[in-house]
Amino acid sequence: MSATKTAYLLLGSNLGDRAALLREARAYLAATAGEIAAASALYETAAWGREDQPAFLNQALALRTTLPPGLLLAHCLAAEQHAGRERSERWGSRTLDVDILLYGSEIIDQPGLTVPHPRLAERRFALVPLAEIGGQVQHPVLGLTVAELLARCPDPLPVQPWLEEQL
Ligand code: ADP
Ligand code: MG
Repeated sequence: MSATKTAYLLLGSNLGDRAALLREARAYLAATAGEIAAASALYETAAWGREDQPAFLNQALALRTTLPPGLLLAHCLAAEQHAGRERSERWGSRTLDVDILLYGSEIIDQPGLTVPHPRLAERRFALVPLAEIGGQVQHPVLGLTVAELLARCPDPLPVQPWLEEQL
């Protein structure tokens, strides 16, 4: 049995019933990948990179897991499949995206898996929810905390707290 690690994941959805898809993803990951120790609020952000798409809802999770990183990624991709995700174009619309932002303080660079997530520091939509549940966590490559990365992030896209009542 491997040691328990805390992995930080980012869930994203911009197709269908986004909040329900994120809820189902949490249940799927809790059943298959580990214990959800913390979950941020939901945040809404205009689609990043491709502005002709519906806006995303994002949520960060702290997952206590004994899965090694490659297996954790396999469960994240399975959660996307479970949500009916179809991969067509890069950065296209998706029912569910599950990214591994951090895996303990490990630095992983293997085919198909780079951790910390290589675009974390430039994406406000990832840093805002992550800072809510892990602001003091240190980025093992950049040597700054998540809160410090957020304070330095040049991404201009606003990240708004999302309330169910807005429906
Ligand atoms: P993105 O999340 O950047 O929009 P995708 O969700 O389409 O892109 O992911 C494409 C591939 O990225 C996945 O199949 C996975 O192998 C790879 N990948 C590399 N590093 C990570 C990571 N840290 N978290 C999730 N996927 C990753
Ligand atoms: Mg992804």
